[in-house]
Order: sequence, then C-alpha cells, then structure tokens
Amino acid sequence: MRHIVIGGGHNGLVCATYLARGGAEVVVLEAGDRVGGAAVTSELCPGFRVSAGAHLLSALPQRLLLELDLQRHGLRLAAQALRTCNLSDSGAPALTISGATVHGAGDKDAAAFADFCRRMSRFAGVMDTLSQTVPFRLSLSTWRERLDALRIAWKIRALGSAPMRELLRIGAMNAYDLLSENFESPRLQGALGLDATLGAEYGPRSPGTVLTLLHRWAGRVRAGALGIAQPAGGMGSVSEALASAARAAGVQVRTNAPVEAILVENDRACGVRLQSGETLQSGSVISSADPKTTFLKLLGARHLDADFVRRIDHLRVRGLVAKMHLALDGAPSFRGLDPAQLGGRLLVSPDLDYLELAFNPSKYRDVPEQPALEITVPTIRDPTLAPAGKHVMSINVMFVPYDLGADPAAARDRLFQNMLATLQRHCPGIRERIVFAELLTPSDLERRFRAAGGHWHHCALSLDQFFFTRPVPGAARYLTPMPGLALCGAGSHPGGDVSGIAGRNAALAVLRQESEHAGRH
Ligand SMILES: Cc1cc2nc3c(=O)[nH]c(=O)nc-3n(C[C@H](O)[C@H](O)[C@H](O)COP(=O)(O)OP(=O)(O)OC[C@H]3O[C@@H](n4cnc5c(N)ncnc54)[C@H](O)[C@@H]3O)c2cc1C
Repeated sequence: MRHIVIGGGHNGLVCATYLARGGAEVVVLEAGDRVGGAAVTSELCPGFRVSAGAHLLSALPQRLLLELDLQRHGLRLAAQALRTCNLSDSGAPALTISGATVHGAGDKDAAAFADFCRRMSRFAGVMDTLSQTVPFRLSLSTWRERLDALRIAWKIRALGSAPMRELLRIGAMNAYDLLSENFESPRLQGALGLDATLGAEYGPRSPGTVLTLLHRWAGRVRAGALGIAQPAGGMGSVSEALASAARAAGVQVRTNAPVEAILVENDRACGVRLQSGETLQSGSVISSADPKTTFLKLLGARHLDADFVRRIDHLRVRGLVAKMHLALDGAPSFRGLDPAQLGGRLLVSPDLDYLELAFNPSKYRDVPEQPALEITVPTIRDPTLAPAGKHVMSINVMFVPYDLGADPAAARDRLFQNMLATLQRHCPGIRERIVFAELLTPSDLERRFRAAGGHWHHCALSLDQFFFTRPVPGAARYLTPMPGLALCGAGSHPGGDVSGIAGRNAALAVLRQESEHAGRH
C-alpha cells in the first residue's frame, strides 16, 4: 500500500522511514524548498548561517539515533552535554548547571539540586515511557493496549509509595511553587523556571508548569549522554540525516510540493491534491502539518462531525516564543562569563519574578520590557557557520505574543529595542558588533514554517491537551475520525521538540492498524 506523508519536517521524515521499513511505498510531500520544517539551517546574510527555528538538540532518543543509524547518514555533533549558564548583569560569575551539578548556587542548593535531579529523573522516566507509548483507548480493547497500560502502571508502581505520592502532589503544582519549595538561589530557580516555560504559553506561576518541566526533563533523560547537544552545521543537518535515512529506506522525498487538499472517496482519505493541481492517490495520508491546518484547511470541516470540528477550532495554537538571530563581526563577551563557557547554553532568567514579569504583558498582547532569553553562540563550537573570526548568535525570546495588539509594527520595534537593551546589559558592546539582525515573531514563524500560530508544539502542551486528549479526543492515537488519515507531527502526542517521537509512534500506530485490519480479513 502507498502512504503519503504531508510535511517533511523531522517528524514527517521519521514517520516515513518507519513506514517504509514496514514494507510500504512512501512519498513525503514538503511544501518548502528543503526538508526540516522548524529544524532547519538557513542563511542569515551572506556567509552567515544559523538554525532558524530549533537550535539545541536535547530530546532526541538514543534509540532513534541507533535505529535510524543517523551517524552513518551524516549526523555530527559540534558539541554535546553543553552546560547551562544563567547570566547575571551585575558581573557576578554565571551560575552553571552541568548534569546534576550546579555551581554558583551555594552548598545547600548544590545538595538540594542533586537530590531534586534524582527525584525528577525518576518521574521523568515515567513521563518518557508515556511519551514513547502510542496512547491507548481507555476501554483497553486489545491485548497490546492492555500491555501498554500495564507497562505504564508498573513504571509508576515501581517508583515506590512515597515517590508516587510526591508525583501526585507536585503534578498539579506550578513551577514557581515547586522551585521555591526546593531552592533558595534565585538564579537556580530562574534557570529551572525557564526550562518549565520555554515553548509553552505559561508563566512560572501558571498551573500545569510542573508537567511542562517534566516534559523537558523527560527529553534530557532519553537523550542520555548527549545531554544538550549542538548539531554540526546547524539543526538542518539533523533533518538532512533523517532525509538520507528515509531515502535509504526507499522513501521518495519531494520538496516544493505544497499539499492543497486531502482527497476523500467513500468516506476515506485516498490521496492529496497539490497546489500545482497534480493529484496523488494513496491508501493512507499521514499529516505532520499542525492539526488545525490538517483538519480545517486540507481536509475540510464538511468531512468531520460538528463536535470534532469545534474541538479542533478551539485548540490553542498561538505561539509565545520569538527567535532573534544576529550576525556579529567578532566574538561577544558576556559579563561574568568565562570565555570557555561561551559555547554553552546561556540564559537570561535571573529569578522567577523576572520570568513572571516578562510573561505578564503577553496576556494583554504586549511584548516584555525585559525579555527572558535562551542564547547560543553556535560558531564557538562550529566555526563553519560564519566567515573566519565572525560569529552568529541564536536567541529564543520568551513570552512574545502572536497577536501584537493594535500596532504590531510598533510592538515589534519595541521588542527589538528591548532585546538589544537586555543583551547590552549582559554583553556590553554587542550593538557595535552586529552586522545583521533578524527578529522572527510567532506570526513570522507561522509564515516561515507553515505551522498555525508559529507554536513550538503546534498547539498548547497542557494537561487538557496531553496523552489521551492530544490534540483532541478522537485523534489522540494518531488515527483520526477520517479513516485513512493520521497525524504524525508535534501537535500529536507527546508534543514538540526535535525528538521524532510523534513520527515514530504514528508510524507504529498506522502499521498496527494495518496488521489488525489484515488479521480480520
Ligand atoms: C522559535 C522556536 C524555537 C525552537 N527551539 C527548539 C530547540 O532549541 N530545541 C528543540 O528540540 N525544539 C525547539 N523548537 C520546537 C521544534 O522546532 C518543533 O517542535 C519541531 O520542529 C516540530 O517538528 P514537526 O516535524 O512536528 O513539525 P514542523 O517542523 O513544523 O514541520 C512540519 C512540516 O510540514 C510542512 N507543511 C505544512 N503544511 C504543508 C502542506 N500543506 N503541504 C506540504 N507540507 C506542509 C511544513 O513546511 C514543515 O516542513 C523550537 C520551535 C520554535 C518555533
């Protein structure tokens, strides 16, 4: 049977490879001129290249690396197990985190952090098992579903009764309370608070932020020794390696092939029509485009029942992360940062109140005055990205709303100035070093990466859009109410990040459905 995968982002490529390895004919149709979606390397200005969306690899399962043999397909890392350095504008040495060790937070917090890491890693282990499992029906209709449910129940049971109680206690807390309860150091709290909220649409005091912290922690658990890594050649090289693995498995990958519509015959998805007018028939269509685009634009509400359409329509898809890229004529120098640490993951998140204050204006469609930042200078570890002696800086800017209010141009300009002022405080002289700057707000990211709302996870990652209910009940097991149509992108379980899990799980779900179907006939 032929499968069509819509979208050649990293999840689409992973899904296609597993399907092809299952013996199927697979075609990937990517609208853009290259594969990768938001995991791509782009030219910033002549001679300077940067990871235009995702910039750090911290959630890719070791299993995927091995199963897809990504090293043989060209994946190289410029750095792995990067340190996180939370900067201070006072010139005090940066607080550094490496694995379960923290420097700069005092002895008491150093011990508390090691203990916190032990506990969180165990909880994140459960979360990771959940992430790598195809969500099952609550009715547990098949043996496989019963087995999966048992495996997860056993993982939780194996925690022991006190940790199990603790997981239940913290599960509904917010990150602000959890981190304040565990640590005294504002900068340690700030660094972990940023981890809990980056990519989500919440401030540290919002409910559900312990869930998003566990989601991030699960990524680190599964990445194992790679920790936080920087791919050589930028994030696009991960997608290129995935595309090479896909082609080696027999997948046909077509770029510049935007899908205009999913075709339906006899109440079943049976192919696609491209914007060029070309039609392709297939036994099934698996979409890595976000759920709103997939159901409402490509399929069309008329093929779905009203209740399902209402749920999709209500999905929260407005992203809250902007991206800034700078081309620099020399290496930046941050206050309190040892030059040897410049190649690490740098944060501007001095404390939890700073984060909450940076978040607040987004509720009223305004930009933060003092933004919270995740910064990398990838050229320190990978000089191939810029001319000799020059550098690029890649920055995730948190809490930038999709809707910039009545005067978006003025809001964007204010954000740009606020960014430069914040950077200048931490990195004196940065303004003079800039030869080119690019600021991509969520609405720019939406256009560039063709994901509704420009959202990191394609739609909110929250308790009401998680596991059994992600993106919505009725489509939470990758299979959808439209026979022959499945999802495989970040909008499905377990959400975004460059992890490939949604793609792998979706392929398993489609292959299992096929074998159940074959077993019945
Ligand atoms: C600003 C930003 C920074 C991020 N930073 C990080 C980070 O540092 N680390 C990390 O792990 N994650 C990061 N993420 C999250 C990560 O990039 C995403 O979760 C991930 O790329 C989603 O992958 P995907 O394959 O599911 O979807 P996408 O990457 O969105 O790919 C979907 C693909 O489908 C294509 N498509 C859509 N519609 C059509 C159509 N009609 N026809 C054909 N093709 C179509 C698109 O062109 C795209 O290529 C970041 C995200 C953003 C927005």
